Amino acid sequence: MDLPLHIVTGAVIGNALLYHEVTRRKIDFTRTERVKLATAAFLIGVVSHLFWDWMPHYDWLFSVELFKPLPLHWLIPQILTTLPVILVNLYLNRDAWPLAAIAMFGGMYPDVEKLCYFDFNLPRFLIMFRQHSCYLTQWRPWELAHKQFLVVFEIVAFLILLAVMYALTQARRRQRVFPTFPIFCSGRFNAQGARNEGAL
Ligand SMILES: [Zn+2]
Repeated sequence: MDLPLHIVTGAVIGNALLYHEVTRRKIDFTRTERVKLATAAFLIGVVSHLFWDWMPHYDWLFSVELFKPLPLHWLIPQILTTLPVILVNLYLNRDAWPLAAIAMFGGMYPDVEKLCYFDFNLPRFLIMFRQHSCYLTQWRPWELAHKQFLVVFEIVAFLILLAVMYALTQARRRQRVFPTFPIFCSGRFNAQGARNEGAL
């Protein structure tokens, strides 16, 4: 599956976890709880990646005609569509950006493994998801026969997830509960959190 869909899914997962925490009105986190939350964000992100790759798909962004004459033409559309999602999600979650980043990283991690295995000769024993990362993707006949449908499906899924990502960040802000756990929050956020906590 194309990278932006993996990234936006990871972003939704991170935002859903953050939203869940504030609806519990929890503001103090032990170190163990912080590690559990980060681990959950990463692992759910990885599972979402494997799910999307299991679904029928047609990695159309790897072969956009416009970029064909350029070096690394397969990578350019992926970066142009993924980078804005990463930056917007980090900005919307600037009060808790490390957790947002971990969830997005989980969403793309199996492809990082694949890249390291094929392009940088990472030893096979270091690969966690061998079924995914040690094989190059081949289109299945059904995918080739329905590629227009799959392209539309991927674009619609991407736009819906983008809207959910934004809606979750806004819903979290409306809760006006600001957890103060330093691993996930910047100093600026903690100061703001302290102010808002007083207003509750
Ligand atoms: Zn993949």
